[in-house]
Amino acid sequence: MTHILLRALTKRYPAAPSPAVCGLTLDIDAGERMALLGPSGCGKTTVLKLIAGLLEPTHGDIEFDGHSVLAMPAERRDAVLMFQNHLLFPHLSVGENVGFGLRMRGESGPVIRARVAEMLNQVQLAGFETRRPRELSGGQSQRAALARALVLQPRVLLLDEPFSNLDAHLRDDLRALVLDLQRRLGLTTIVVTHDQQEAVMLADRVAVLFDGQLQQVAPPRELYTRPASLGIARFFGNPNVIRGLKRGAVVETALGALRMCHPSPDGAVALTIRPERIRLADGVENTVCGEVTHSAYLGTHLRLTLRLGTDTTLDVLTDSTHDIRPGQALRVTLPAEALWPVIESA
Ligand code: ATP
Repeated sequence: MTHILLRALTKRYPAAPSPAVCGLTLDIDAGERMALLGPSGCGKTTVLKLIAGLLEPTHGDIEFDGHSVLAMPAERRDAVLMFQNHLLFPHLSVGENVGFGLRMRGESGPVIRARVAEMLNQVQLAGFETRRPRELSGGQSQRAALARALVLQPRVLLLDEPFSNLDAHLRDDLRALVLDLQRRLGLTTIVVTHDQQEAVMLADRVAVLFDGQLQQVAPPRELYTRPASLGIARFFGNPNVIRGLKRGAVVETALGALRMCHPSPDGAVALTIRPERIRLADGVENTVCGEVTHSAYLGTHLRLTLRLGTDTTLDVLTDSTHDIRPGQALRVTLPAEALWPVIESA
């Protein structure tokens, strides 16, 4: 298992006005699954290409197990990069595609055949050796591409939006397969995605990048419940935002005085609360009253919009067993522990 350290990594493309990646320091444990998450163009793919050795950084260093790999060519880094548009060679069979890298390495025929068979078995493609890529479904060809990458026994697996071309069921199957292989093979894995749900499902920790800069790195649950900024909070679904003036544990807001319990300096504050953390009123503290303006039945949940005063609304996600209609008055509780203060800059 390989420990990866990115040290103040910067990549500026020629003629680009600003660096694609800027001073990125990230410590990835041996065998860890790290997701890089961020909007389109924030530098995620660039980071993977730098690690794989397909690009050279402008500044900074990349270490595998305490040694810089900058002087090492891509093919010696043992880091495989899999893109969403994996290109299998169309004129080769599945078996020949998977064995291609081993042949390039000069392995013998029997070794190649044995390793290819074992790998195809692991990705549930046993018996597909002689098929051509055009005879595979999308999910099967993605699994063949995975087998082609993993048969080389890399120490680092880099996945760039690997499942985004597949429908929801296939995506789930492939994610489960990758998780299983990653654990069994002890691969340090970095997956790039702009899909926060995918990041949450696949990763031990998630690093959020905006404009080439690291914003926050944390386990998924922490990122969701304790985002460092409003930008990060919004990346994980839209929270309610309530602005106010904090003094001690009390924040004066348009909804009245709310008690909060997470530390934050006194003064102007933006509090976030997720729709599912708002409860139908069951206490005296942090209870507010409004009028339901929308109610959508979602099967498992009921999504409500609550209007309070003239210009404040709250999104509320509640149990679908409640029958709550537009026009109805509703009291809700905003639990102090669910009110999370954020900075508004990013
Ligand atoms: P996406 O989610 O859309 O794939 P990304 O987060 O992976 O985006 P990158 O592909 O790493 O982003 O690109 C980061 C920035 O660098 C973008 O502004 C992009 O336009 C720029 N960029 C990428 N490749 C090059 C290149 N070869 N030359 C110049 N600029 C580039």
